[in-house]
Amino acid sequence: MNKGRLFIVSGPSGSGKDTVLTKVFERKPDIAFSISSITRDMRDGEVEGQKYHFISREEFEKMITDDALLEHNVYVDNYYGTPRKPVEDCINLGGDMIVEVDVNGAAQIREKMPEAVSVFIMPPSFEVLKERLSGRGTETAEQIAERLANAVGEIARSVEYDYIVVNDVLDDAVEDLIAIMRIDRFKADRQTELVNEILNKAKI
Ligand code: ADP
Ligand code: 5GP
Repeated sequence: MNKGRLFIVSGPSGSGKDTVLTKVFERKPDIAFSISSITRDMRDGEVEGQKYHFISREEFEKMITDDALLEHNVYVDNYYGTPRKPVEDCINLGGDMIVEVDVNGAAQIREKMPEAVSVFIMPPSFEVLKERLSGRGTETAEQIAERLANAVGEIARSVEYDYIVVNDVLDDAVEDLIAIMRIDRFKADRQTELVNEILNKAKI
């Protein structure tokens, strides 16, 4: 069986990653999502085990010591990390999976899994990013300022990605991300099983 593909999705806070991904999963329920372990407080409306496992710093540091994380990073004073086993299990069983990580996490995953495909969700402009972040109403003014400061460095690193998808009109961004995942299925490295099967049955 050919392995599945890992899709890395990043973008500055407020660029619309969650909004785009929610719609992608409605359309493509067969794609798995990697649930990150994080130490920040739960926001209103967040549910344990849906996007994140909310754990203590001690628990997180034990995961680092146990080498249980594929990547991890500190973002605005909190740990964020991708548990390794669910990703490896999914990919080894031929399934596709999306991980949503920041630019540092993406770089760590690329080192370990160079075949992973990375997509950066870009806001149409910095002004729009500011409006979306304040409009979401989930962070204090101070936290928003910190996230915007981070966003500048993140946008500068978008060139490290395989693809950049601009999230202006939501449905277009959703289509674009789905198109990237669809075209990836045609890559030759994902079809070695098919090639072998045809060759094995070849009779001249
Ligand atoms: P992220 O997950 O990247 O931090 P969110 O998905 O929470 O961002 O989006 C930030 C805010 O912007 C939310 O209030 C969301 O409803 C809004 N938003 C996301 N995408 C769009 C879009 N294409 N057009 C208008 N508003 C959007
Ligand atoms: P938020 O606090 O807004 O949910 O996420 C903040 C940032 O952390 C976002 O850029 C998001 O993509 C990133 N993030 C979410 N999960 C992970 C993870 O597992 N690892 C890393 N490195 N970053 C993550």
